[in-house]
Amino acid sequence: MTDLLRVRDLSTRFFTEEGQINAVENVSFTVEAGSVLGVVGESGSGKSVTGLSLIDLVESPGKITSGEIWYNNADLAERVEGDRPEAVDGDFVDLRRLSEAERRSLRGSAFSMIFQDPMSSFNPSITVGEQIAEAAEVQRRASANPRSTRSRTQGYGLGQMLLDGVLPNRSYTSEESWDRAVELLERVGIPDPAERAEEYPHQFSGGMLQRAMIAQALAGDPDLLVADEPTTALDVTIQAQILDLLADLQETMEMSVVLITHNLGVIARVADRVSVMYAGEVVERGTLRDVFDDPVHPYTKGLLGSVPDIDQPGERLEPIAGNVPDLVDANMPDRCYFADRCPKAMTDCLTRPPEYEVSDGHRARCVLAEREYSEADAVPDERF
Ligand code: SF4
Ligand code: MG
Repeated sequence: MTDLLRVRDLSTRFFTEEGQINAVENVSFTVEAGSVLGVVGESGSGKSVTGLSLIDLVESPGKITSGEIWYNNADLAERVEGDRPEAVDGDFVDLRRLSEAERRSLRGSAFSMIFQDPMSSFNPSITVGEQIAEAAEVQRRASANPRSTRSRTQGYGLGQMLLDGVLPNRSYTSEESWDRAVELLERVGIPDPAERAEEYPHQFSGGMLQRAMIAQALAGDPDLLVADEPTTALDVTIQAQILDLLADLQETMEMSVVLITHNLGVIARVADRVSVMYAGEVVERGTLRDVFDDPVHPYTKGLLGSVPDIDQPGERLEPIAGNVPDLVDANMPDRCYFADRCPKAMTDCLTRPPEYEVSDGHRARCVLAEREYSEADAVPDERF
């Protein structure tokens, strides 16, 4: 399978009055073209910030402080190579080495994002159809003029657009974009799309509005859709329908999806690969089967053990006893971040473990994953 994104050692920090918060710490993973990567972990583990970092939506006081995000796009690579050869590797371009305007122009057309609460993505006083048409129009104009930065309005909703001062103007959209909006509503399974397009957000049920938000995110035909807890606010039956829709879109539109959730049932249903996050780090990653059938990291094992029936998407993740560290740099322990909650913690865990390769593509940040490691050598340590 071809890789769409290769993320290397990405760190995102927040510079707050309480100090520096290491929300995402040296995170690496790969998103394959046309596949679903599930990012799972408790709240506060850095999943959402990882998603926002991917599409450059981290806001002040947050900042990506290091790392590389290599994006597979031959056309873009060709355009960039002349003046910045260091930003190009074959067909891949390091998004971190692009200008802000260049990155912004990729939003919507290359990357798009959907959130938990569709209500916050729609303006209550404009019809759903008009708002999707707006997103389609922005993309249409941007592709007519690739240098245009107008495309910044797509992918993060009208609320943000208003904040950014790009005021929607009802005469802005063309008939072509309206037709595209209706077509997108139909594509995401909304019955009578032409009539529904004329309705306002409050006339949609939660599940239908979630579908409409997906339609809006698809307006620019993105390569990657980042979906942050897209089903958390919905009841179980509707959750399953939305997940099936995402899986279907990913397949038919050859789009990649990064699905962020605290819900292992959701991951089990649609993910091809999984990254498990804890305290800003990826602690285990691999294929769904690697991680679910053969987990190595005690945190992954704990998560899986806490879910009675993994095939039920409604199952909530019961956290393992204890809490995720607060991620303030000054308070982060100089040992394995999971040590205080780990049933296997021992003297060897007093040093921060690197990522070990368990098998091809399956990695875990735990001494137990070291190939030659024998648990018989483990020395219990009373400090844990
Ligand atoms: Fe537990 Fe040690 Fe592995 Fe950390 S390195 S997860 S403390 S066994
Ligand atoms: Mg979150």
